[in-house]
Amino acid sequence: MNTIKLERVQYIPKQLSPGILYVTERYSVAAHLCACGCGNKVVTPLGPVEWSLSENGDLPSLWPSIGNWQLPCRSHYIISHGQINWAGAWADAQILAGRRAEEQQRQAYYAEKSQLGTFAKIWDWILRAIRKLFGG
Ligand SMILES: [Zn+2]
Repeated sequence: MNTIKLERVQYIPKQLSPGILYVTERYSVAAHLCACGCGNKVVTPLGPVEWSLSENGDLPSLWPSIGNWQLPCRSHYIISHGQINWAGAWADAQILAGRRAEEQQRQAYYAEKSQLGTFAKIWDWILRAIRKLFGG
């Protein structure tokens, strides 16, 4: 989903449709389904110190960006003239890089452990062979 349309409503409906930014002036709140398609509802309060909404026909712009760090998808985008502009690739890359480094560390740890395990088995086998040779 890369576009979003503005729909003015009196109340935010329980079931949201994708691609629609619902705005209720009465409660100064906007709501939409996360643009990544994960189906999570994103509610943004509107106000001077919160999100500011501007519109161009039925094409909404919201500022600042929508950062869904609390959602599993962690999506981050800017709604501008009805377009979803994906942002935060940098942050996502950082998160991914962090996870990858962790995973590499974990794999290195287990590789080392299993290598030690193999050494221990071989050593055990040698010891047993020696004992056999010397009638132990
Ligand atoms: Zn999402």
